[in-house]
Amino acid sequence: MSALHDPAEFRTQLRAWLDTNDLTAPADHSLESHMRQFIRVQRALYDAGWGRYGWPEKAGGLGGPDMLRAIVGEEVVGRRLAEPGPYSMLEVLTPTMIDYASPELAAEMVPKLLRGEEQWCQGFSEPGSGSDLASLSTRATPDGDNWIINGQKVWTSFAQYSQRCILLTRTAPGHDGITAFFVDMDAPGITVRPLHTMHGVDEFCEVYFDDVVVSGDRMLGKPGDGWPLAMDLLPFERSTCFWQRIAYLYSRFDDLIAQLAARGETDDSAMGATYLALHTLRCRSAATQHRLAGGTRLGPETSIDKVLLAGAEQQLYDTARDVLPGAIELDESPWRTEYLYSRAATIYGGTSEIQRNIIARRLLDLGKE
Ligand SMILES: Cc1cc2nc3c(=O)[nH]c(=O)nc-3n(C[C@H](O)[C@H](O)[C@H](O)COP(=O)(O)OP(=O)(O)OC[C@H]3O[C@@H](n4cnc5c(N)ncnc54)[C@H](O)[C@@H]3O)c2cc1C
Repeated sequence: MSALHDPAEFRTQLRAWLDTNDLTAPADHSLESHMRQFIRVQRALYDAGWGRYGWPEKAGGLGGPDMLRAIVGEEVVGRRLAEPGPYSMLEVLTPTMIDYASPELAAEMVPKLLRGEEQWCQGFSEPGSGSDLASLSTRATPDGDNWIINGQKVWTSFAQYSQRCILLTRTAPGHDGITAFFVDMDAPGITVRPLHTMHGVDEFCEVYFDDVVVSGDRMLGKPGDGWPLAMDLLPFERSTCFWQRIAYLYSRFDDLIAQLAARGETDDSAMGATYLALHTLRCRSAATQHRLAGGTRLGPETSIDKVLLAGAEQQLYDTARDVLPGAIELDESPWRTEYLYSRAATIYGGTSEIQRNIIARRLLDLGKE
């Protein structure tokens, strides 16, 4: 085993590298600036090797346990060199692409994503199909060696910055009739319309598909593999992906402590309860990272991580609202933007109600009612 495959040694050397290679983010808080900075950080990490560890060699990585990726995310996002939103797409989409794309396609495309040469988006949700994803209706029809796609996706994060999309389509009725494609976003017939959110950032989009031609070799898996692919992807959306977000939330908690200290104030009860929520989440997520590193295939138990993340994130920003009077309601501060965004934590990646249903039915075996 390479010395750098040891997580403790890896972290020490990564920290030393980050200390000597200045990747500080600009003060500009626009989404454009965040995306440019994310690309800059990805390129630097990839070229120095850090962004390749924890990914398999067959997809341009340098191997080693998944834990190494979690450490990179924790250090980079915890230091606020990249924003957790764009960073999360790496962890959400890449593992599934490696599992389902042909080896040639994965070897060609994954390095482009890891190096920041491209952004990818996740085209799952539709206007009538979010929680009930299996009811999706964007249709793919065979046409010789190609497929013709018609339909609409919504809430597609960063679609306006993306060169590719992992897209779920319907090719036949039922769960077995969902098929995934890796689609070029500049293909004729694709229209992307950014949606303005209440926190003032056009993070997600509507994406329309009108007679979009996709080559059959861009299918991920075989016809009907879309549902297992989605089930494969969602646990990643709730595991390695969370580790970097948790690092970000801790850094904001530290900011809150510093702001209170600067005012000579404290609120031990609210701050203690928030710390407990963050710590519970981190302990749970640490166990998940270890299970993943140990080769366990993640499944519905990651719904617990999602419920804890949503609760801790909202509690942190509720506490900021309570202990910094006016910061949310009156100031144009990052606290305000992030407070508003934190309301989405119980929705993105599967709502808290749905996660609780999964916990009740699939983990506790409590039946449908
Ligand atoms: C910030 C953000 C980013 C996102 N990014 C993406 C992305 O990149 N790609 C993508 O494909 N999607 C994305 N989504 C969409 C997200 O996956 C969906 O919003 C989510 O799955 C919920 O679906 P919905 O919005 O259609 O709500 P619905 O499914 O319509 O749910 C509405 C309400 O009904 C409740 N509900 C529904 N069914 C049940 C039930 N059976 N039992 C109890 N309660 C129920 C829900 O909990 C919710 O409160 C994003 C969402 C957000 C907020």
